[in-house]
Amino acid sequence: MTSPLDDKLSNALGGRTASALQKGLGLVTVGDLLSHYPRRYAKRGELTALDELELDSNVTLIAEVLQVTERSMKAKRGSIFEARITDGRGILTLTFFNQPWRSNDLKPGVRGVFAGKVGDYKGLRQLAHPDYQLFDEAVDLADPATKKWVESPIPIYPATSTVASWQIAKSIEVVLDTLPPLEDPVPPSVRSERKLLTYARAVELIHRPAKDADWGAARKALRFQEAFVLQSALLQQRALLRATAATPRVPGKLAAEFEAEMPFTLTGDQRLVGDEIFMDMARSAPMNRLIQGEVGSGKTLVALRAMLAVADSGGQSALLAPTEVLASQHLRSIVRTLGPNLSARVRPTLLTGQLSTAERKKALLAAVSGSSGIVIGTHALLSDNLEFFDLGLVVVDEQHRFGVEQRETLRQKGKQPPHVVVLTATPIPRTVAMTVFGDLDISTIAELPSGRIPIQSFVVPLAEHPGWVSRVWERTAEELAAGHQVFVVCPAIDPTVTEPDSEDPSTSPEAGGGAGSAANVTEITASLKANPVLAGRRIASLHGRMSGEAKDAVMVAFAAGEIDVLVATTVIEVGVDVPNASAMVILDADRFGVSQLHQLRGRVGRGSVAGICLLVTRAEIDTISRERVDAVASTLDGFELAQKDLELRQEGDVLGSVQSGGRSSLRLLRVAKDGDLILDARELAAGVLEVDPTLKDHPALAEALARRLDESEAAFLSKN
Ligand code: ADP
Ligand code: MG
Repeated sequence: MTSPLDDKLSNALGGRTASALQKGLGLVTVGDLLSHYPRRYAKRGELTALDELELDSNVTLIAEVLQVTERSMKAKRGSIFEARITDGRGILTLTFFNQPWRSNDLKPGVRGVFAGKVGDYKGLRQLAHPDYQLFDEAVDLADPATKKWVESPIPIYPATSTVASWQIAKSIEVVLDTLPPLEDPVPPSVRSERKLLTYARAVELIHRPAKDADWGAARKALRFQEAFVLQSALLQQRALLRATAATPRVPGKLAAEFEAEMPFTLTGDQRLVGDEIFMDMARSAPMNRLIQGEVGSGKTLVALRAMLAVADSGGQSALLAPTEVLASQHLRSIVRTLGPNLSARVRPTLLTGQLSTAERKKALLAAVSGSSGIVIGTHALLSDNLEFFDLGLVVVDEQHRFGVEQRETLRQKGKQPPHVVVLTATPIPRTVAMTVFGDLDISTIAELPSGRIPIQSFVVPLAEHPGWVSRVWERTAEELAAGHQVFVVCPAIDPTVTEPDSEDPSTSPEAGGGAGSAANVTEITASLKANPVLAGRRIASLHGRMSGEAKDAVMVAFAAGEIDVLVATTVIEVGVDVPNASAMVILDADRFGVSQLHQLRGRVGRGSVAGICLLVTRAEIDTISRERVDAVASTLDGFELAQKDLELRQEGDVLGSVQSGGRSSLRLLRVAKDGDLILDARELAAGVLEVDPTLKDHPALAEALARRLDESEAAFLSKN
């Protein structure tokens, strides 16, 4: 079955227009173009604020021509035609070189839509060679037909410097005028129950509304459709995975021995989630579970019990960690927690990119022969030359660094699909979890092991109080004097290099990050060593450009208390465990994401020592950057933070690279706001799939799912 949505734009519009749309906006098919929805709607007669134009922004505005001038250029041959336009609030000059014929169009008193990039000429705002569409001059507002025309909203599209909003509108008109009827992926019963427009009608009205209510209704229908198709896809994916066969794994002798000798009493949540995992793994369908738990809630221990259950049946587990430091720390702590007897039997093995050739060979052999029951590593675990004897369980630690694809790659390494458990300390609001990880079951560890004292967090706002920075180092000295250790985190390694690991949201223009270059490990280490307040203290650096061995050596020395102050980048971010570290100073904290800050803060106060976190920022009050930092200081509740983060982030960042789904999957849906809608769509989709799992009676929905899958596959392939 072919859908008009899959037609190439080159057929529908001709090669030149199609290639402009592809180059400028990445639109290839009719479906791409039709789902390039207007950003907003302007009214004819509504005057856009000309006094609010930002330099270098691409604007579309409605204005009236005030006066025009034509003159020849002084230095070169040729002419300049200029039109001054106004909206009553500001004046802007349109400039055309060597196009004197523009005077035929642009006459004083004429009104229209103008689109272009705001430039600056001798201090005055101008648009050079703008695109425009003029309104009919004979506007008689008394005429009912004219009145209707005047009232119809003008769609304003997201545009670029090469493709203007009105050009997009024109292309869409052409496509809509010849569009065959569109099949509706949302079944009629669901549609009428929710009182939604048909797909065809919604597409027409979102692009060509006659009145404001039209695009409102169109958006509502299309937004629902997005949620519905997405949830159907996730539910079907989940059903497919569940239909494959996996080897059941049940706890036996190793697990029982560990229970008896374990150095801790499990928290209630650890036990509960552990039971859920054992139940999942005892089935002959693969487990696919996300475990979210606060930093320090003891997720590793839960995973370790699962790994032992797999070892009990002769199977192996792979533990995937995001960094070398973390992988080696996992190895050390797992060996320690297991004790010598169990370690000797399970033989945990490390496999990272930093191993020598000989060590690497040994590790690969231990995996393929089955002699190692737990293989711990970084991305190196994804490499082709790693094979397992019998991979039964994949544990992915700290999900936010890994995407769906990596999970898939590891899954492929089992003879049968292995069980998968994903650990994350970044709590995910339910709707996001359902949208991004809709194919996973979710367990939560909310409880912390007893005896932990909550961390205190403070913002140090240098924009208002530049002098407070010296207080930060005095506070550091106080912690050291009490016998504790301190982390100092910087966004950059040296004045020119940003840690590639860092999310650095300040690089996006809307972030409003602190001005100037970011605090960096090299300079901060030097300045702290020279700071008399810290005289005699052992200060060391840690960052991603050091070799794995050097990093490990520093981490081990810090953990052993041989270093007092560790100046580092985000390499220390996830999971690093040094119970004696009591303070965390984060410099230019606004350069980090909310979840990153929350993670970093979780590095201190892990023992019985009270933790303190100082979030130092130069960001001004009322910027998004500052709000992020304030949010982190205001609560220790990861779920609350995740929700705030979601509200502060741009939508694209929320789904980021973990989203499988390609460019056109989420257009109108906002996971932050549309939680109820997503839930509703999920229930309705589940209802449809329950009655018709293969969607044989819902061909249009099946087709929408296939289209979505194509896109995510294409997106996946383009990343490899
Ligand atoms: P996270 O969930 O952040 O990965 P970890 O698994 O690293 O947390 O555990 C944090 C610390 O708590 C570790 O030092 C671990 O040994 C300890 N821990 C785990 N479970 C318990 C428990 N039930 N009682 C006491 N300490 C525990
Ligand atoms: Mg951890």
